Amino acid sequence: MADSVRELAGAFKRFLAAQEEDEFLTTAAPVRAAVSTPAPAAPAPSTTGELPPMAADSTLDISFVHQHEPTAPTETSTMNKADKTRALAELAQTIASCTRCPLGATRLIAVPGEGNVNADVMFVGEGPGFDEDRQGRPFVGRAGQLLDKMILAMGLTREKVFIANIAKCHPMTDPLHPEKHGNDRAPNAQEIACCRKYIEQQIAIVCPKYVVALGGVAAKALISDAKSLGALRGQFHTLHLDSVELPKPVQIIATFHPAALLRNPNWKKDAWIDLQMVMDKLGLKGARK
Ligand code: SF4
Repeated sequence: MADSVRELAGAFKRFLAAQEEDEFLTTAAPVRAAVSTPAPAAPAPSTTGELPPMAADSTLDISFVHQHEPTAPTETSTMNKADKTRALAELAQTIASCTRCPLGATRLIAVPGEGNVNADVMFVGEGPGFDEDRQGRPFVGRAGQLLDKMILAMGLTREKVFIANIAKCHPMTDPLHPEKHGNDRAPNAQEIACCRKYIEQQIAIVCPKYVVALGGVAAKALISDAKSLGALRGQFHTLHLDSVELPKPVQIIATFHPAALLRNPNWKKDAWIDLQMVMDKLGLKGARK
């Protein structure tokens, strides 16, 4: 007993004396091991492709933003089509009853996302609007019709891609009157922090070759909090997720949100340049040579 107390005191002294980061790391570890209580056992990794259950908290989890600390393993690397379909369906069920942020209290229907589980391209917007809130499907309003045209222009179809949003429930400027048109807004930082775990799991499950972030909110949430859409556009970025590890590297490119293109048709030319970059990579017909 006396020996272990002396050992602990010595380790603690070395811990306090450590100045350099490397030395801190090597000395802090045994101190933490000596003074901490055993952590609860982590859930066993799934061998069936099932997702580990999400924490059943209803509080805001702001600290979730860009922690880059992958959590419990989501076994996405060995998923076949059936595994992916099952995992996405289970995630959609979780989202349907989610109340992790205040949007859960005002939405009509949650909008998890939909599409081809083996898609090469995944489009990610910011959040559902009026029409999506009523149908439970992403991009089905006017902006969605334009997105359909953009997808067709790429030589793809809606059935070949996966479409989702960062926030799964309709953010409203006036949540007391969900029947009003023109009541849409972008999700705020707290709502994104609460919800991003879902889009990250969807990306990890589908594991597309390319993610196209539609609009500044999605681009900043998935690529960088700091830069504007203008600074992020026109180049591929390597996607890093906070809550799950990707089975293989995924590239992400940012472009304008279709709703912004409806308001500013002059931007369509630049959006098309962005999409052509993806087409080039995938060898799609019509891609710029
Ligand atoms: S927006 Fe996301 S985190 Fe908030 S209630 Fe809906 S599903 Fe849950």
